[in-house]
Amino acid sequence: MTLIAANWKMYKGPAEAAEFCLALREQDLDGVNVVVAPPYVSLAVAVQLLAGTEIGVAAQNVHWEPEGAYTGEISATMLRELGVYGAIVGHSERRQYFGETDELVASRARGALEAGLFVIGCVGETESERAQGKTEEVLRRQVSVFEPDDNFVVAYEPVWAIGTGKTATPELAQEAHAFLKSVLDVPVLYGGSVKPDNADSLLAQPDVDGALVGGASLDLESFTEICRAGARIRS
Ligand code: PEP
Repeated sequence: MTLIAANWKMYKGPAEAAEFCLALREQDLDGVNVVVAPPYVSLAVAVQLLAGTEIGVAAQNVHWEPEGAYTGEISATMLRELGVYGAIVGHSERRQYFGETDELVASRARGALEAGLFVIGCVGETESERAQGKTEEVLRRQVSVFEPDDNFVVAYEPVWAIGTGKTATPELAQEAHAFLKSVLDVPVLYGGSVKPDNADSLLAQPDVDGALVGGASLDLESFTEICRAGARIRS
């Protein structure tokens, strides 16, 4: 089944997250897997308000150790205690602004999987890497650090398409997804300015197994529309 995941980034504190989750649970989301990833402070309220639904709650990052002297970090064990279902790792904003390397991201993924979380591992080339013809080299390097696991999916998020309004064409996304799967045989979500009006054509690609949605996931109506596109596509 198609997976549609919402990355709320540093938006929606507990009050706004609660309002969204209460409305989301009233939507018809049959035929699609849905995950929301609020900021850490809103995880508890999201878990509480989505309890009893099929909607999963994920963190936007996770540390690899169960506990320790790692100021500012949160462990997979702690997330599990809260009832959190999964975690995103290696988002390009973590790589770009917080210096996260492929090895660090791989440790986060490994620790989270070992603790029983579902993991979305993000990869993607920058605009200049694509212009230099290095897309496959970069994707191979980024995805090779991960190991296949039933609880692991990759999100292909070309950095030039995140929050920019520029979306990969469905053909370009398909090509990158097929390449990623040739390196690591796991489902691959597409991320990068997914909106209700481009979701159908992206999700229709044979190797696009779902979407990781940033900006458009902050609005209930547009997120729900993208989820419905996900339900339509494999039905
Ligand atoms: C993201 O942050 O994962 C993302 C894909 O953002 P946007 O949809 O806003 O491009």
